[in-house]
Amino acid sequence: MKKVYEKPVITRLETGFMNKFGKSPFYSRKVRQDIDGVPIERLVEEFGSPLFVYSERQLREKYRQVYNAFASRYPNVQFGWSYKTNYLQAICSVLHQEGAIAEVVSAFEYEKARKLGIEGKNIIFNGPHKPIEILEVAASEGAMIHIDHFDEIIDLEQVADKLGKQIKVAIRLNMDTGIHPQWSRFGFNLENGQALDAVKRIASGGKLILNGLHCHIGTFILEPEAYAIEVEKMVKFAYQVEDNFGFKIEYIDIGGGFPSKNRLKGTYLPPDVVVPPVDEFAEKITQALYSNLRPGDFPKLVLETGRAIVDEAGYLITTVFASKRLPDGRKAYIADAGVNILFTAFWYKFNIEIDRPVQGANEPSVIYGPLCMNIDVIDEGSLLPPLERGTRLIFSPVGAYNNTQWMQFIEYRPNVVMVMEDGSVELIREKEDITDIERRERLPERLKVK
Ligand SMILES: *Cc1c(COP(=O)(O)O)cnc(C)c1O
Repeated sequence: MKKVYEKPVITRLETGFMNKFGKSPFYSRKVRQDIDGVPIERLVEEFGSPLFVYSERQLREKYRQVYNAFASRYPNVQFGWSYKTNYLQAICSVLHQEGAIAEVVSAFEYEKARKLGIEGKNIIFNGPHKPIEILEVAASEGAMIHIDHFDEIIDLEQVADKLGKQIKVAIRLNMDTGIHPQWSRFGFNLENGQALDAVKRIASGGKLILNGLHCHIGTFILEPEAYAIEVEKMVKFAYQVEDNFGFKIEYIDIGGGFPSKNRLKGTYLPPDVVVPPVDEFAEKITQALYSNLRPGDFPKLVLETGRAIVDEAGYLITTVFASKRLPDGRKAYIADAGVNILFTAFWYKFNIEIDRPVQGANEPSVIYGPLCMNIDVIDEGSLLPPLERGTRLIFSPVGAYNNTQWMQFIEYRPNVVMVMEDGSVELIREKEDITDIERRERLPERLKVK
């Protein structure tokens, strides 16, 4: 059969794959025109730029994926949502709806969880600074209090006297799991006998009942094996405590620290290569449980996973405000979002997507934020095509530790929205104005400008 004539077309060739020097200058950047089906442009028109956007669907899916990795392997699993990773009410509520209890590390976070309707018995209270007033509230409400130091034991015994009852407590351990630098400043050291001393001290006081062990070995841990070591040491210690002091260790809380698909600065390979899937962590952890637990013993396994659940559900839309050429020849862009709201830019190199296809060769470019501060850099060097003013850049993943560690500095903090599962968009934190910032200030009469 004779072929039909086809008009010749010229297609732009997108060559260049990732190699050991990174991406070729001709690699085309990923274009993102929507988040869960909602156009970027519509989001910005309605809520402004910069704008934090969370995906309810991705948050729930991730929670279920991580939870099921453990629940499918071990019969007694409880997740506690790490408030400091992201304590926006809407985020916490989604995770509480999914079944997580609250994990808090300060009086403020404790109050936040209570205000959201979480009962004391469903709050894990960690942290090195728990003033006696909040300890008393937490103890009377039956919270899971995790003791950090000997002074806290003394405080809690005082609270027990005041309440006229024994208080159930857990202790936090720190230990060598092969992760360095070792987080040895929290809790009681296992290897040097301090943890055992803490148990002796608690037992001799007779006012506290030890019913749990806690440990949190660090954050963005890329080694599943470290958790296997942690679990083995915790289970062995639990039996040592049970056999010698008569306490029953009802739960083992192994903390958080699993990595998200983010890229630590200086990491050579992409997250898809270096970040082990959560199933690998779950497999190592549950294997370590089964090889060290006594037959028929299934203490509750508590996890406080923060970053790995929320990071990838968060995006930041920013807009190119201006561009300039640096004296060293590099292209520079000024975006409307900086380290004031993207605090984790100090450690991570984000994935940057552009809201439209852009023609032109890529060149090394640096992206600055809006602050009048030299350190305000949100990307130190990426290959970018020439970007016009008004181009939207979508940074991800940014869901962990930005909406808690952001600061009001020079600029206002922007709107935060959630794209709901039904495709609607909800404002979950309204952008600030001057009244938010000045509400607590007092200007003495005699200093007023006349
Ligand atoms: C911060 C923190 C977590 C959460 O850590 P991620 O790295 O976000 O998973 C869990 N437990 C404790 C005690 C923490 O301080």
